[in-house]
Amino acid sequence: MYIMDVPIKTNINKKIKYLAFIKTYGCQQNVSDSEKIENVLSAMGYQITNVKEEADFIIFNSCAVRKNAELRVFGNVSQLRKLKKKKPNIVIAICGCMTQQSHIVKKIRKDFEFVDIIFGTNTIEILPKLIKSVFLKRDIKNKKFAQNFKDINFKPFEILQKTDISIENLPCKKENKIKTFISIMHGCNNFCSYCIVPYVRGRELSRKSESLLQEFEKLVKTGCKEITLLGQNVNSYGKTLDKKISFTELLRLLTKIEGDFRIRFMTSHPKDVSKELIDEIVSNKKICKHIHLPVQSGSNKILEKMNRKYTREKYLKIIDYTRKKAPELSFTSDIIVGFPSETYQDFEETLSLVKEAKFSSLFTFIYSKRKGTLAADMRDNVPYQTKIQWLNELLKIQKNISSNFYQKFLGKRVRVLLEKEKNKKNIAFGKNSENLTVYIEDCSEFLLGKFVQVKIISQNNRVLRGKILHKNS
Ligand code: SF4
Repeated sequence: MYIMDVPIKTNINKKIKYLAFIKTYGCQQNVSDSEKIENVLSAMGYQITNVKEEADFIIFNSCAVRKNAELRVFGNVSQLRKLKKKKPNIVIAICGCMTQQSHIVKKIRKDFEFVDIIFGTNTIEILPKLIKSVFLKRDIKNKKFAQNFKDINFKPFEILQKTDISIENLPCKKENKIKTFISIMHGCNNFCSYCIVPYVRGRELSRKSESLLQEFEKLVKTGCKEITLLGQNVNSYGKTLDKKISFTELLRLLTKIEGDFRIRFMTSHPKDVSKELIDEIVSNKKICKHIHLPVQSGSNKILEKMNRKYTREKYLKIIDYTRKKAPELSFTSDIIVGFPSETYQDFEETLSLVKEAKFSSLFTFIYSKRKGTLAADMRDNVPYQTKIQWLNELLKIQKNISSNFYQKFLGKRVRVLLEKEKNKKNIAFGKNSENLTVYIEDCSEFLLGKFVQVKIISQNNRVLRGKILHKNS
């Protein structure tokens, strides 16, 4: 269903300013979903606020990937109890990956009875209907309204586990953004043993290349300079489409669009990376020279238990092949420490892989059991203190590797997209193609959103500072 076909008849009077607050947890996919939620709310007449306390509608877009993220959501929802007492007319919603799980929904219903709306990851288009239901519920006390109400199939909690998602048609209103995201696919078929995503986001489904091209072209025309293609495993893009197309072919199509822009993408799965894809990334000027390639572990024993379907040798081969063609291309990765049955010897293999791969930065996580996953049935036998020790050891090693990677850019010219004016002293910042942040002094506001040539004049750990060489580059 196309969102604009949903009858949006809420009690919202256009003259009255209604404010909505959106809090996003977790990955870029959630950030992209929140963008869609923002568009839906704007279409309804809401204005977005950053101040939770002044909002009439509060929505938490939750993440279920790690226990910590889940605890944070519960903690923050619990704090809303006071606000709801003070402002009983406020509407509170929770959506995202957490609410795709029935035990979580039960907990929310039991412990946070003041939450009005719960919905999942694939049903953003019904948000207006859900908000309307809440308004109608409140108006039931009003005799005038009671009659209308009979006709409405009203559910205060509407938890939908829909899988036939309308992925092509959610509203795209992203004008005047310097950078943004496009979801090219949804769900995942990989079932890594520690991961809840395939259960909460469903099976892999790619969007048609025609609709992606249209959306992409529109964004470029409105001045967008950097577009990140999102998917749980972008390398398998196109496999579910009738008209087969590979991710490399999609990249070729999108980069043929006229305009000065660049493309990023995430996340890549090592098992699906091809030489053809690497060759395209290396040779195509519009594709950023950065690949986020989660390895998770350097031990083949642990990789097998994680159901990752590649070996450390295959992973390192990809890095080696790429670096021979593009020595400065930046690789980043994810690593889980303390997976069930992991020994120090396994962990040492991770350390040796990290030293060999020379990532520009790493996202490190302590293993946490997720109910319903395959690994949840494995004995979590690594003591928490050991996990912390391993994590610290890993971080210490990576710190030097990152610093050495950044140092390579000292004295070099890089092309930076200026994203944000940082402070009153006119220090702005942006990223280069390798996804490294560059701070630039003496930068004026009118350069925001422009590509500039910058000379890197200093480096300290992961901080690069530079001076602008050419304003139009
Ligand atoms: S590829 Fe693995 S880790 Fe990534 S979303 Fe799918 S199951 Fe989870």
